[in-house]
Amino acid sequence: MTAAIRPCWSIQDSKALYNLKGWGAPYFQVNELGNVEVVTSDAAIATKPEVISGAVSDKYDSTVALGQPLDLAKLVSDLTNQGLQLPLLVHFDDILADRQRRIYEAFADVISGCGYPQPYRGLYPVKVNQQRHIVEAVAEFGQRYGFGLEAGSKPELAIALTTLQPGDGEIVCNGYKDRNYIQLALMAQMLGHRAIVVLENIRELDVVLQVANEMQVRPLLGVRAKLWERSNGHWSQSVGERAKFGLNTAALLSVVERLRQENLLDCLQLLHFHIGSQVATVENHQRAVLEAARIFVHLADLGAPMAYLDVGGGLSIDYNGSKSAAHSSCSYSLEEYARTIVATVKEVCERHQVAAPILMSESGRATVSHQSVLIVDVLGISSVGATTVQVESGTAAVVHRLAQLQDRIPRTSLLADFREVGELKHEALKLFSQGNLSLQERSQVEQLYWNCCQRLWDCVQNSAADNPEAIGLRELEPLMATMYYGNFSVFQSLPDSWAIDQVFPVMPIHRLDEEPTESATLVDLTCDSDGNLDRFVGPEGRISSVLPLHPLNGDPYWIGVFLTGAYQEILGDLHNLFGDTDVVHIRRESHGYRVDRMELGDRLTDVLGYVHFDGEEMVEKFDTTVEQACLGGTLTAEGASWLRRTFRTQLQATTYLQ
Ligand code: PLP
Repeated sequence: MTAAIRPCWSIQDSKALYNLKGWGAPYFQVNELGNVEVVTSDAAIATKPEVISGAVSDKYDSTVALGQPLDLAKLVSDLTNQGLQLPLLVHFDDILADRQRRIYEAFADVISGCGYPQPYRGLYPVKVNQQRHIVEAVAEFGQRYGFGLEAGSKPELAIALTTLQPGDGEIVCNGYKDRNYIQLALMAQMLGHRAIVVLENIRELDVVLQVANEMQVRPLLGVRAKLWERSNGHWSQSVGERAKFGLNTAALLSVVERLRQENLLDCLQLLHFHIGSQVATVENHQRAVLEAARIFVHLADLGAPMAYLDVGGGLSIDYNGSKSAAHSSCSYSLEEYARTIVATVKEVCERHQVAAPILMSESGRATVSHQSVLIVDVLGISSVGATTVQVESGTAAVVHRLAQLQDRIPRTSLLADFREVGELKHEALKLFSQGNLSLQERSQVEQLYWNCCQRLWDCVQNSAADNPEAIGLRELEPLMATMYYGNFSVFQSLPDSWAIDQVFPVMPIHRLDEEPTESATLVDLTCDSDGNLDRFVGPEGRISSVLPLHPLNGDPYWIGVFLTGAYQEILGDLHNLFGDTDVVHIRRESHGYRVDRMELGDRLTDVLGYVHFDGEEMVEKFDTTVEQACLGGTLTAEGASWLRRTFRTQLQATTYLQ
């Protein structure tokens, strides 16, 4: 469907159309060539603040400037010339560093501004993106701010204790635990890490006491409280009093008593809670922190030397850039978030004359979302444009009726017209199924149906937005949109868009000085009707079922999906055996950028291996079939040789289209 062309289109129009500033600032903008560019700070130039006996002083460098922008379209062109293939996941390490800096500074500024007596210690929850390069980069950049790692399982703890150096930030051990998990945590402690075992349920205490006794280690312990306060977002049902993790009040009290009996109450130092991800309002955070702070001071009153309050994750990302309380958005700033936590804890501790804790947060999305961009190339399009249909006499009556209706649209009511169009199509289907409509007539019905829909849609577009008829026919919008075939798998690269209707900002990364005249939907390669993107960020963050795109012109057309760094890489699955995409990690240099790491995506043999097909065995089977065809005389020796070679090459190729 082609919208009316406006006389002159500017880059500013493109920015507003995709609400780029809303969700992309300060990292993404458009340059004068009409390409998206990435603005990063150079992580390497940030100076390391002094670390005083494990606590970071506030002498951090707050003057880290954003550096020279990097043209994303040019970068993709360079990388494909170097042999990387699309779809491509690009990680920007400097954005990651900048996110950590901003989170740290938000807390550090409030802490120094209000005279809070303890520092902030950020924790990166490894589960949000466990890719080695990401965790190592988090540890590298986070060292200057005292960042630690949060683990939720044994493998994540193994990552944490081998990535951080003793003396770096804390390792907070969450999730259900068995003997081995606790052993690993205490081993980390023996090596000089501050590894805190957070009790998720009361049964874990027996195991901890037993393993600690065997290893002769006094454990560092925390408790996770089940708060009554819950978030109002997607995860609201998995938190609160019936949350699967955490201790209720009775269990908290019995942990204290048991530790007192065992003469280990001094080990209990941390209180943790997590009310869910993507918490929409700062008031929600405030109520949770207040409840937790009250529990904290009571635990301290009971004699535990409480030193840390870990407020979990939940710091939202503004995916649609509307700065609202919508699920895809975030209505508060990083500074408001930090101020809320610091001020609330300070007030409660002062009132109860309890020593204020070191404040920790486990911000996952807020740390890693911005640093990755998925680049998808468009393979082709499919549209349902209007075409003239000649209906000869002798053609089935239903075709004539549809042709007459087409000529009369619009009559008095668009909705009534639409209903009649649907009824006639339904009648035609019945006739076809009974054998009373030919294939040619069926083809005419199909085209006339789309012609009618097109006319109706044109009327909707020309009517006032609040016209009830137009509102009733909004469902025509995605139906009439042009389908753009993207070289990617939603299930592999953007699983949350399928699973929980997560909105990610999507826009072309070039040609932004041209008006995008097509209303489009973006479908993926999988043989699944769910394999598409149909919720897009529009002006001012409004969610639309269509995405404005440019008509294809014979050159590659690249679409970026932004803010994809959290959860997507690990939750992605192998639907249709589309595997990991190629991945590249980029770091800024003083005069350009450096490819820090390139990772080729899965080959056919890799994904086949995941489902237990052995590549070598498949080659043997293939060769046997080729041999039999040779013996049977249906294949020449030359043909056989080509088949063998080509099969081997194919098994080593990308799972995506080349
Ligand atoms: N901490 C815990 C215990 C979590 O379960 C989660 C994720 O849900 C996080 C931290 C990270 O949350 P977010 O990505 O919202 O910051």
